[in-house]
Amino acid sequence: AVNIAVYSLMLTQWKFLLPLTFETLKTIEFGAVYLLPAIALQMIWALLAIPVRPWVRAYQLSFLAFAFIGMANPWPDTRPLSLMAFEIWILPALLFIPVVLWKSMQAGNTEARTLFLGLIVFGATCVNDILIDMARLDNPRLIHYGFAVLVLAMAVSVGNRFTAMLNRLEREIAKHTEELREANEQLVAVARLDPLTGLLNRRGLIEDAEKEIKRVNRGSPEFTIILADIDHFKSVNDRHGHTCGDQALRRLAALLRQRLREVDILGRWGGEEFIVVLPETDGDGASVVAEYLRHAVETAHFDYQGEPLPLTMTFGISSHRKGESLEATINRADTALYQGKEAGRNRVTVNAYQGKANKIFIFKNSNT
Ligand code: GH3
Ligand code: MG
Ligand code: MG
Repeated sequence: AVNIAVYSLMLTQWKFLLPLTFETLKTIEFGAVYLLPAIALQMIWALLAIPVRPWVRAYQLSFLAFAFIGMANPWPDTRPLSLMAFEIWILPALLFIPVVLWKSMQAGNTEARTLFLGLIVFGATCVNDILIDMARLDNPRLIHYGFAVLVLAMAVSVGNRFTAMLNRLEREIAKHTEELREANEQLVAVARLDPLTGLLNRRGLIEDAEKEIKRVNRGSPEFTIILADIDHFKSVNDRHGHTCGDQALRRLAALLRQRLREVDILGRWGGEEFIVVLPETDGDGASVVAEYLRHAVETAHFDYQGEPLPLTMTFGISSHRKGESLEATINRADTALYQGKEAGRNRVTVNAYQGKANKIFIFKNSNT
């Protein structure tokens, strides 16, 4: 743009406003003309996004040399001669640039098409002016219009490139945003899980149980909570070590998950305590489920390093009542669990909610 601006200025009378001699102005004009092919090549190659081969670079450098020699030439009279040499030297470019453009166009490069159109108009105006010269006609010359069209084509190409780049960036941002969203989802999922057992952790369970409360508020039947605590688990750790305890926790978790329905929500509530949310299940139904689980744990054959490891669990049950908070329901299950422990462990205890008082029923006790 600077090069073309300088050249255009030299073609107008405005140049005489500059405090320069006519000779200097001429020197600048020739310099601008000789530099033009080197810069145009660079721009076209950049627009087409094709690599600059060594011969193209050498060709460009030859025009730099032309500009240097043309400007430093101490004999102004020889200028027409150097101009003629320049005009011959530039002919190959006028042949291979359209070929390169054509190839890029075939490869689907839209910039090449725009530039090619500009070049055709420019070429047509050149031919027009040459014919006018040859026939010595007075018709108006058109080359400056052709030149303007070529520059416009270049500008449009730059604009297109810019838009394409913006679009690509936008697509990439959308892709990265999607990746981030997925990673975030995974993080959220992991944050809801207990790493040891793979069950929901307290946070995940609370989230899911709160959804159950919402369903009940919308008219779904009540749900029931079972809190289950391993009996004398401390002694398992004390006798066999923490690794054994961890293994027992994992196995119990798997057993509970296996015995429950898909819709039942199972989580690790804390250390050796599990929690189950049974949707659309009343206290009686939950008691049957808890007894089934209790029996399954009691009769399962756990072992550690070849030694049998008998395990039992105590279960506390409470049914959620409309309007009650999740915490309150769980507290009632905890109370029932505590009562079960007090009563001798390995049993199912229901906390029935009657009026404002909590009544505890020992639902089943297989030991007695
Ligand atoms: P109770 O029948 O009254 O429930 O007796 P308990 O020994 O099971 O209960 P207590 O609360 O006294 O001890 C719980 C034990 O659970 C203590 C702790 O070492 C163990 N525990 C809690 N979390 C883990 C764990 O992630 N891994 C292992 N190995 N042990 C755990
Ligand atoms: Mg406990
Ligand atoms: Mg315990």
